[in-house]
Amino acid sequence: MEQGGKPVLGWAARDASGHLSPYRFSRRVQRDGDVTIKVLFCGICHTDLHVIKNEWGNAMYPVVPGHEVVGVVTDVGTGVTKFKAGDTVGVGYFVDSCGACESCGTGHENYCPNLVLASNGVDSDGATTKGGFSDVVVVSKDYVVRVPESLPPDGAAPLLCAGVTVYSPMMQYGLNEPGKHLGVVGLGGLGHMAVKFGKAFGMTVTVISSSPGKREEALGRLGADAFLVSHDAAQMKAAAGSMDGIIDTVSAGHQIVPLLELLKPMGQMVVVGAPSKPLELPAYAIIAGGKRVAGNGVGSIADCQAMLDFAGEHGIAADVEVVGMDYVNTAIQRLERNDVRYRFVVDVAGSQLDATA
Ligand code: NAP
Ligand code: ZN
Repeated sequence: MEQGGKPVLGWAARDASGHLSPYRFSRRVQRDGDVTIKVLFCGICHTDLHVIKNEWGNAMYPVVPGHEVVGVVTDVGTGVTKFKAGDTVGVGYFVDSCGACESCGTGHENYCPNLVLASNGVDSDGATTKGGFSDVVVVSKDYVVRVPESLPPDGAAPLLCAGVTVYSPMMQYGLNEPGKHLGVVGLGGLGHMAVKFGKAFGMTVTVISSSPGKREEALGRLGADAFLVSHDAAQMKAAAGSMDGIIDTVSAGHQIVPLLELLKPMGQMVVVGAPSKPLELPAYAIIAGGKRVAGNGVGSIADCQAMLDFAGEHGIAADVEVVGMDYVNTAIQRLERNDVRYRFVVDVAGSQLDATA
């Protein structure tokens, strides 16, 4: 905490119970090149859940979660010309990078070894970063993106992490070409965005889900072309060898061999879900058919802006359930039970942040 900094009111988890409650702290005073943002909405990503419950073993309590921020600029520091007070902007998973490494130099700053995460990260001054479950964030202009006016600010918030995390590898691996067949594993926050982008790209999209109850919505409202229940061996077998690419968004331990069997020869699987339990990858599952497995971590700031612009043009936003901060602990329990269609978003500006739940 910076002494004499800007007083901020947020909600934090204090221990691995993950229970959130009001928390007062201070942020750095706006510096040259910084943008001060009043938080309007912040999505609840499954990563927030992994972190506040210390499932990845890296929580630095108190943890103020939140890395899917849409807000309005209230002030800018010297040298900021790209943004002005009143602009609607977004902040995602990271808020700084070194600017000097090979990843930063090639536009892949999301892979910078010194990446500063928006929440539960370590800032250049050694402070633990605090996320968007708070009334104000102060972020360097280079890590702020513009949110198209055509998008609703609540539905746009999940684009800042869930959206770019699926859009970026789809662009990188050519899984954005009309007529190609995309498999989306796990119909949650990330998964439903992958379905929307896949359909906007003109692809054939198949959802592979552990929840038979999601079939109707997947095929109806979300516009997927087919729906497979992952534990139905007959359905999975019938679709073997049919997909050009698969985005695996599953948040819990699961078998990936049956998923790899869905790929065509030389098909591309992209793992974005981050279960704490290791995935099992027997060599035969990728040797036969020359299949490829890659990981992907969010996307660069340029990818994020391109994704938002694309979403703005095509009217793509997340399907959200907007809740007050006083509901956040219930929302997290429901997210853990896979009971959300398809993203909780906290109405931060509309919540009384100092009221205990
Ligand atoms: P989410 O909304 O909870 O969605 C995850 C989906 O996984 C669920 O909707 C469910 O879909 C499926 N699932 C859950 N438990 C399962 C189980 N035991 N077996 C099979 N399927 C199961 O989570 P999210 O916010 O989309 O995040 C998904 C994962 O991506 C998390 O691990 C998160 O940390 C990670 N993540 C990674 C990045 C990155 O940069 N790589 C960025 C953001 C998030 P069905 O009901 O359809 O099966
Ligand atoms: Zn996230």
